[in-house]
Amino acid sequence: MDEKTRRNEWMKKAGGLFPAAKGSLREVLRNCSRPSCGTCSSGKKHRAWLFTCYLDGKQRSKHVPKSAVKELKKALANGRRMEKAMVLSALGLIDGSRER
Ligand SMILES: [Zn+2]
Repeated sequence: MDEKTRRNEWMKKAGGLFPAAKGSLREVLRNCSRPSCGTCSSGKKHRAWLFTCYLDGKQRSKHVPKSAVKELKKALANGRRMEKAMVLSALGLIDGSRER
């Protein structure tokens, strides 16, 4: 397969994986900042979504609004598919160069 064909196949694959993201998303329990919160003062906590990632070797975390959770989950699933595609790409490059 020539480079142009391989490039087109990659663009098709990568384009189908939009949006793609990397990191982890989990549900956590936390206290809120309101001093008179009934939920927190009763010992219960609030459910919240926390996104964690590594950027330039540093761990970062960010709370995720409920409205963004669905899209972010989809992006993370696409990101895992993208990572698999990149591993297969590396294996393909190695096998391809062996045949040349
Ligand atoms: Zn609270």
